[in-house]
Amino acid sequence: MQGTGMNDKINIAIDGPAGAGKSTVARMVANKLQYIYVDTGAMYRAVTWLMLKKGISSENSEKVLQIAQNMVIELIPHENGQKVLLNGEDVTPYIRSNHVSSEVSRYAQIEDLRTQLVDLQRQMALRKGVVMDGRDIGTTVLPDAEVKIFMTASVKERALRRFNELSEAEGVSLEQLELDIATRDRLDEEREVSPLRCAKDAIVLDTTQMTIQEVVDTILSYCISQMDGEK
Ligand code: C5P
Repeated sequence: MQGTGMNDKINIAIDGPAGAGKSTVARMVANKLQYIYVDTGAMYRAVTWLMLKKGISSENSEKVLQIAQNMVIELIPHENGQKVLLNGEDVTPYIRSNHVSSEVSRYAQIEDLRTQLVDLQRQMALRKGVVMDGRDIGTTVLPDAEVKIFMTASVKERALRRFNELSEAEGVSLEQLELDIATRDRLDEEREVSPLRCAKDAIVLDTTQMTIQEVVDTILSYCISQMDGEK
């Protein structure tokens, strides 16, 4: 593989199923390299939040698209990750609710909506120096990314991680989370338009038995060897 040189920025694509720890890891890798972190799931979540608020079903793709065309999504780097602005409004606190999580994969199946968001994601990565996480980054959004990682973990482990993040007040059981994650995996893997797939040239990291720091260090070592021109 041709090296890019230490001073040349690269793009890093991190894909994988829900709850594999992509966003935590992507944010840490971006911080370390002083790159920009782009959470593409947050974009699909912001659209979903808006549609739910307006009462527009994912079945009504025409109406979804009509509204999405006039929507402005901005990702603003922030000390705790990233803020998501939708038409100028900070929607960050709302987009991780269980309601949005359980509906987002249905809106994410709408082909023209994906085209619109993928265009925006590509623009964000034009100048390189981006760590982007999602489901289709290595396969569709940035097929030329210099480093591609596919992060997985067992459904049980992913549900457990999510469970430990939630407060008791949210009242969701571990079993329910396992079910939700398995459903989301199935919808993301089986959709027709850019389904969740491991790119042929991606490095697969099963993180079930790894700590976050181990995952971050492993990814950084791939990035550094790519910049150095090593294999
Ligand atoms: O990454 P996160 O779990 O926040 O993503 C939420 C949902 O958005 C995913 O389950 C998937 O349906 C959709 N998504 C997608 N393509 C991406 C990122 C997210 O379809 N690149």
